[in-house]
Amino acid sequence: MKKLNLKYSNRVILGLIANLFIIFISFAQTVPKLKDPSNPLIIEHAFLIDSLGGLIYWNEGALTPGSFFTTHRSNTGLGDLDSMLEVITWKDSLLEDEDSPAPDLYHTLYQQYYNGLKVEGAEYTLHHDGEEIWISSGFIAEGLLLSVTPQISESVALSQAISHLGFETWIWDSIETEYPDGELLIIFVADSNGNESFKLAWKFTIVALSELYNSTIYIDATTGGVCKKLSNIHDDSFNHYYYGNKYDLDTRVHSTWIRTRHYLFANDFTRNIYSTDDLNYHDSYFISDKYWNWEDMPFSNDDIWGNDKWSATAAHYCASKSWDYFKQTPLNRKGMTGWGKHVRIVADYKINGNHYNNASYVTFNNEDYILVGRYTNNNYLGTYDIIGHEFTHGVTNRSRPLPYEKISGALNESFSDIFGYMIERYSFGYHRNWTFGEDANALVRDMKYPNSFSNPSFYMQPQYWVNVIGCTPVAGAPPTGNDFCGVHFNSGVQNKWFQLLTDGGTNNVYGSSRNVAGIGADKAARIAYYTLINYKNYDFQNSNFNTVRANSIASAAILYGMCSNEYNNTCAAWHAVNVGNYNPCALSWRISRFLNNLTGLKNNTKSVFDVTLFPNPTSNSIKLFVEQSALNENTVYKINIFDNQGKLVLSSTTSNINGYEINVQSISEGIYNLIIINSNWTKSIKFVKQ
Ligand SMILES: [Zn+2]
Repeated sequence: MKKLNLKYSNRVILGLIANLFIIFISFAQTVPKLKDPSNPLIIEHAFLIDSLGGLIYWNEGALTPGSFFTTHRSNTGLGDLDSMLEVITWKDSLLEDEDSPAPDLYHTLYQQYYNGLKVEGAEYTLHHDGEEIWISSGFIAEGLLLSVTPQISESVALSQAISHLGFETWIWDSIETEYPDGELLIIFVADSNGNESFKLAWKFTIVALSELYNSTIYIDATTGGVCKKLSNIHDDSFNHYYYGNKYDLDTRVHSTWIRTRHYLFANDFTRNIYSTDDLNYHDSYFISDKYWNWEDMPFSNDDIWGNDKWSATAAHYCASKSWDYFKQTPLNRKGMTGWGKHVRIVADYKINGNHYNNASYVTFNNEDYILVGRYTNNNYLGTYDIIGHEFTHGVTNRSRPLPYEKISGALNESFSDIFGYMIERYSFGYHRNWTFGEDANALVRDMKYPNSFSNPSFYMQPQYWVNVIGCTPVAGAPPTGNDFCGVHFNSGVQNKWFQLLTDGGTNNVYGSSRNVAGIGADKAARIAYYTLINYKNYDFQNSNFNTVRANSIASAAILYGMCSNEYNNTCAAWHAVNVGNYNPCALSWRISRFLNNLTGLKNNTKSVFDVTLFPNPTSNSIKLFVEQSALNENTVYKINIFDNQGKLVLSSTTSNINGYEINVQSISEGIYNLIIINSNWTKSIKFVKQ
């Protein structure tokens, strides 16, 4: 399946998972400040750090979001010429589920600038409740030292790009478009040996008319050479299928005094999808606003379509299902953009008069398009999994483009497979299969058995893993291209992760069996979606899956609680695909925020010892007594008291817990949960205030 990925570069990370309580790791090379366990900021305030994945869990009450990069500037790795600017803050929309804790959470994305220029991919996200930071993740480019004065002008750089690409005709030759503007910025590039550096570059988005070409190209602003290209077309091979007579098409009526026609415009005001077919288009792939008129759209006089306009109706219907899937609780997403902007679908798409034997997502001029072709003969590609896959490419692109190459491209592809699967499952109402394209008679992938299509079923699997280090991305399948360094191949790793997280099962990694219990598709999809939307960092060096692993584990912690069954399964599923081998679950992190999960926490805690409260019931004060064997020297105990609504009413700490007395006169009558937290165990006891 394809999709289009826009202007982007990468970000991110390397590291190692280190539980602060247990492991400190020393690095031979310079470690970025926010991945360095010996950084004073981390020592003082971090609860847990996954430095491989570039993610930090912070202590409660330790840091405030607004001043993070100013108060702790040097310890975040920023230099004198660096600045971090807030890009956007968004409120969490996925916590509205009775099964999980429901704090108000916000995510604030920051972009790094160096000497006033954007450092593409150097982004950092603070996950916070408005007052204090819970988790942070991302990448900061440290030690930048380069000139920001271009030696090559914007116009020279553009002509370099044009002559490098060498197409016959361009978008600005015929459609109401001007030459593309260049953006001067700092980018991260890896050379053919895998050596990485930052460069000053001009960035252009270039669209050809003579071929299906839409890419972002970066020209070195010092030498004029081509630094890299990223495809803005995410395209994927597929075929067609007819889902019986199930269509209940969402159409719009348009009447004049002469006639009445029904068009493929979603009309119920919950969806916003326009579908057409290619009959009225020129050969050029590009789609201009002027073609989206009533007159050019497929129509029916009576709204009884039957087999008429089959390619367009099938695609329209499947896109409606995709829209509906994302809109339901708990994802609550409105369309690709998240705010309901329309999606344009071109069915039976052709290039230069030839049928397009593919499907793709393309974005241009702030419009989102799904192009749907046919396979050989008449197999239209309008199926749930294919359209769902393309629709998800749009969701990803509108959230945070994952550059369409190497590992970030493989993640991009995999997220589309994950939600393509979920949309097929949602549309049928049950699990049908883990394959892609089967309805169009064009099987291309299998999420359960990736090897059957030569995709790896675990990270670095011999014979199947596509090397990305030093790989130069080339479009197209082997042997002519390398699939942008294996985006439709290495996607098998995360696909298998998702399948195992859903179903449970065993994966064979280098001859050893790794088991996962499984948590079901809906929970797995919720974790995957939360990861995609709220943890936007990907691996800057494009060399591993540690970042997405860290992000999905943090997502599970937020959604279901640290050390919950869902959390542990998420870790286990990554381990089963050969990513990560250590699970730093820490029960006491933010325990007060996860009261709804206390049952699970208690079950997980091996606290066989007794804690006694006296007197209970009480009216004035209460004393704590802990069994001697459970006491630790030099430990601070935190005591939190919650009412039966889960609201924290009292909090204190002591290093001497036996006989510790708490005054409860100020709280009203009722039943309360008292929770003792320390670094070794957590205990919850009920008491009554009378
Ligand atoms: Zn795709």
